[in-house]
Amino acid sequence: MTATLRDRLREQLADLKMPGALEALDEILRRADSGQLPAGEAIGEVLGSHIALRNQRRLQTAMRCARLPAVKRLSDFDFSFQPSVPREQLENLHTLGFIERRENVVFLGPPGVGKTHLAISLAITAAERGRRVYYATLADLIMWLEEAQQAGQLPRRLRTLVSPSLMVIDEIGYLPISRTGAQLFYQLMSRRYEHASTVLTSNKGFEAWGEIFGDDVMAGALIDRLLHHCHIVNIRGNSYRVRHHRELAPRPTEPPAPTPTPRRGVRRQEA
Ligand code: ADP
Ligand code: MG
Repeated sequence: MTATLRDRLREQLADLKMPGALEALDEILRRADSGQLPAGEAIGEVLGSHIALRNQRRLQTAMRCARLPAVKRLSDFDFSFQPSVPREQLENLHTLGFIERRENVVFLGPPGVGKTHLAISLAITAAERGRRVYYATLADLIMWLEEAQQAGQLPRRLRTLVSPSLMVIDEIGYLPISRTGAQLFYQLMSRRYEHASTVLTSNKGFEAWGEIFGDDVMAGALIDRLLHHCHIVNIRGNSYRVRHHRELAPRPTEPPAPTPTPRRGVRRQEA
């Protein structure tokens, strides 16, 4: 390839703001010129280099702005350790069709079985595809909503929390919630209902949510909206945290209690 052509490619990639591709260009051209790389593959590698850097930057931004507590990926999830997690359902969820359809995902199960891991890996996949994501534990979320309400800024805070196309709300059921807190959470979930997807995790089955939120009627209404378009992943098994101490691990736990019948069908598989 002539130096002029190479320079033009460099200018074009710079113009298109493709620094990842620009950096990889010389090496790709060297392999293409020496006949190691067919033209189609060379183009694929140039574009692939751009996408890889873009995804890395999106992930960095998401880690900063979305408050994700760690990087966890589906590829790091050991399905053989947790056979109650249906691999196919999880792989389908990671194609993110549920976000397009504004459906929810609920991970239920005892501590350490990978609920947060899988919720974060969905958020990271979505962030890499350019979706705005947000992570919070239920306790933090309620604290922010209460603070905003006290400062007279609830409408603004609610708008901020409604806008991400994927919100992870982790650890429902670990800490008790005040009555106002529960009402604020209900307001948020009502706004997100059919507007954007939410991924929730809980160590308690739905039958215990009335107790968690201190109000059976409100919990019922919340679950009703949540389950209207929802994928439920019920994880039964041992904690991954204590896997090297099998003798310490609890016996295989009872599954969280059966889910109440939703208004309309609950989808257990991505379509
Ligand atoms: P939970 O939210 O259900 O309490 P976590 O998702 O926080 O559990 O999992 C606890 C730790 O174990 C995390 O570091 C997570 O990445 C890891 N982990 C859990 N399950 C698996 C698994 N099946 N394969 C690989 N790592 C796992
Ligand atoms: Mg967790």
